[in-house]
Amino acid sequence: MKKLALHWQILIGMVAGVVFALIMANIDWGKTFIVNWIKPFGTIFINLLKLIAVPLILASLIKGVSDLKDISKLSQMGGRTIITYLITTVVAVSIGLAIVNIIQPGYSITEDTRNELVESYKGDADSRIAQAEEQKNAGPLKALEDLVPSNIFKAASDNGNMLQVIFFAIFFGIGLILIPENTAKPVKQFFDGFNEVILKLIDLIMLAAPYGVFALLAALIVESPSADLFLALAWYAICVVIGLILMIFFYLLIVWIFTKKSPKFFMNGMSPAQLLAFSTSSSAATLPVTMERVEEHLGVEEEVTSFVLPIGATINMDGTSLYQAVAAVFIAQAFGMHLDLATQLGIVATATLASIGSAAVPGAGMVMLVIVLAQAGIPEAGLALIFAVDRPLDMCRTVVNVTGDASVSMIVAKSVGKLGEPKVKNWDDNYQH
Ligand code: ASP
Repeated sequence: MKKLALHWQILIGMVAGVVFALIMANIDWGKTFIVNWIKPFGTIFINLLKLIAVPLILASLIKGVSDLKDISKLSQMGGRTIITYLITTVVAVSIGLAIVNIIQPGYSITEDTRNELVESYKGDADSRIAQAEEQKNAGPLKALEDLVPSNIFKAASDNGNMLQVIFFAIFFGIGLILIPENTAKPVKQFFDGFNEVILKLIDLIMLAAPYGVFALLAALIVESPSADLFLALAWYAICVVIGLILMIFFYLLIVWIFTKKSPKFFMNGMSPAQLLAFSTSSSAATLPVTMERVEEHLGVEEEVTSFVLPIGATINMDGTSLYQAVAAVFIAQAFGMHLDLATQLGIVATATLASIGSAAVPGAGMVMLVIVLAQAGIPEAGLALIFAVDRPLDMCRTVVNVTGDASVSMIVAKSVGKLGEPKVKNWDDNYQH
């Protein structure tokens, strides 16, 4: 019998997790059971994905850069990557601003609801504001300074330091290009083999994906706040979701225009990574799978995926920037403020920068939102307003973050002549050994 495609298996896992949690929520010991006996498997699944992220970046990027043979190609690809990432982010913020100004969800919040929300989530909001405070106090060149690690083992030991690992891998790859070929050969062969092993590990981890997402979603449902709060924030959530859907259409369109690849081809190749992004809320955890899908199923060569995708996972967060724009204006509206054009243009700039600075982990976009709010003179306490629905929106925006990285990698690959035919035609057979 033909095995069910991976994205269907993951979807079934997700739905089963939700249904199971809804049933268990009606039983006395149901919630404790899920938290004690199901949730740990979700955590293990995410840990496994994160576990291979750093070795994967190191191995594939060193291999990718050294395969380029020529440093000028690297700077050409780097320039195109950063520019395309910036353009997609500005598009995302603009879409977000347009929608929130048209629908104006903030004006439908009554003063009572506003006070109630601010009261219930004040503590959570304060802790995010404190986290953001640390980032705000940094000097203008702090980001550049942070790019260069003083110790590679220290950098590699923290998944939050992905950019430092990327820096080291590129630097090492450049060194490898510059030494005589004979001397470089064994080092390259080592990283080739290392890379193969990591890719096999991703295959193995993906076999557990349907069970992993079951556990993640079941835990999420039993731990989520009451439905009433969701309703009060429904319009705000709808604005974010509409914007995110428009962004997905935007990606499909640009991929089609620049690479002539159909939306169906793109979505078929990407759907397991998108479902994983939804379930884990983390582009960093999804990165290994994104890289594998883009390379094997969308036909982007490794020299490009190994460079464009890890950088994208850390700096290109279109979903996050769109959400930050909507959230900032929504909070302003809920507090009865009117934002003029100049302030809104300021939001485009700060949300773009804030999304670059957001870590690729759950909830990171909200911390950086504090900075967007502060710049626009919107009360930071307003963060408490949107807390209740942040997790589901985080799940959705992470899907867009990951999809954006994949689309840009296809476009950059096409522009440097590195977009070929996918290695895996039947897009699931590499998981069915
Ligand atoms: N969870 C998002 C990501 O990892 C970041 C965020 O918007 O909070 O891509």
